[in-house]
Amino acid sequence: MTVVTRFAPSPTGFLHIGGGRTALFNWLYARNTGGKFLLRIEDTDRQRSTQAAVDAILDGLQWLGLDWDGDAVSQFERKDRHAEVAHQMLAAGKAYRCYCSPEELEEMRAAQKAAGQPMRYDGRWRDRPESDAPPGVAPVIRLKAPQEGQTVLNDLVQGEVTVQNAQLDDLILLRADGTPTYLLAVVVDDHDMNVTHVIRGDDHLTNTFRQIQIFHAMGWDLPRFGHIPLIHGPDGAKLSKRHGALGVDAYRDMGYLPEAVRNYLLRLGWSHGDDEIISTEQAIEWFNLESIGRSPSRFDFAKLENLNAHYMRLADDTRLVGLIAPRLEADLGRSLTDADRDLLTRAMNGLKQRARTVVDLAQSARFYVAAQPLSYDEKASALLDEKGRGLLKELAEAFAGEPDFTAAALEAQVRAFAEARGEKLGKVAQPLRAALTGSTVSPPIFEVAELLGREATLSRIRDAAGAA
Ligand code: GLU
Repeated sequence: MTVVTRFAPSPTGFLHIGGGRTALFNWLYARNTGGKFLLRIEDTDRQRSTQAAVDAILDGLQWLGLDWDGDAVSQFERKDRHAEVAHQMLAAGKAYRCYCSPEELEEMRAAQKAAGQPMRYDGRWRDRPESDAPPGVAPVIRLKAPQEGQTVLNDLVQGEVTVQNAQLDDLILLRADGTPTYLLAVVVDDHDMNVTHVIRGDDHLTNTFRQIQIFHAMGWDLPRFGHIPLIHGPDGAKLSKRHGALGVDAYRDMGYLPEAVRNYLLRLGWSHGDDEIISTEQAIEWFNLESIGRSPSRFDFAKLENLNAHYMRLADDTRLVGLIAPRLEADLGRSLTDADRDLLTRAMNGLKQRARTVVDLAQSARFYVAAQPLSYDEKASALLDEKGRGLLKELAEAFAGEPDFTAAALEAQVRAFAEARGEKLGKVAQPLRAALTGSTVSPPIFEVAELLGREATLSRIRDAAGAA
């Protein structure tokens, strides 16, 4: 059997982080088993579905690197097929027309509420002849759901879950205007798309029992179901915006790399021993449904950031320059030149060791391409006092005569320079750092000087030496 999974978002908003995880699990399971990962856009709610949301979802999936097989299916475009199936059920006696008016339904609900009973359709048109149909009322089509016994789900994550059929009423398959309900559409699509595994959030568990009844009514094979516990905030409460319930695009904007987000989402609900760092290749190799946890996982930005720092260090230097370039350009108000990009690429290895996000990285790379004179932060300014400036003035002269402008030669030069003045290395190196970077934190300062080159280094030192 070829495994077929699917991701079935409703395009009523961006691809949120929980949806990203559902997509990831489905994608990984398909890739692990050599199966297929399909994408279905559940756009039947015409009021709430927008093209902008479809685009945001596709964009989010692409950014996460979750490629789907074949074309994305639009559920709305399949509405005739959904209606056809409802009529098949009708013809087979598995469904019936219900002519209840909205007022009647309202009365029914009110009476149930008053009696303290759960609200459900009472089945009054189940066995009533069509000849009773009131004139001018467009009927809905309802499933003739089993009233006795129970429906048992062997969930791949939750284990065995049972619901008494008496608790489930006769759901609507086709509305009075002929449009299919969500429950019907999902079942027909999963069947027609040969979906073998439905992996989704456990907020869909109740729907699943109703969907199973539709599968049974049609005599179709059931897919396997796996309901993943939802993601909670660090405090155990439902995930809120503050906790990270954001669109995938917000993670990109916050400077996270897609491979880090993938790794993080994987660990939110799936485990492989104590492994925290799991590359996508390993994830594809190891992913299984048995190791999805049964309890809700908690979103933790600190963990995501640690993983991101790890993947930043592994990332290709040219790629990272490409990622920080737009941020730097916006910040500097000009385009980066080829020389800037070249310098940043050569500097990247030193920069990426310290950065936790792309935002950090852009910030820490800024001094390389910033206009002179640099602006000095408070601590840097403090180092450029009279003594610091005096040392820098002399150092500029020493550097100017240095034939070999390499990190090693410059370091030797500064060591000798400090020693000759009875100063510790830091007393000279720190003002130098302030002069070259405008800050007191940077990659190793002699490497910075080598990368900047003689001309820029000397001119920055002279700027700083002259700074009042
Ligand atoms: N369209 C549903 C949602 O966005 C998912 C349905 C499903 O996975 O079956 O929550």
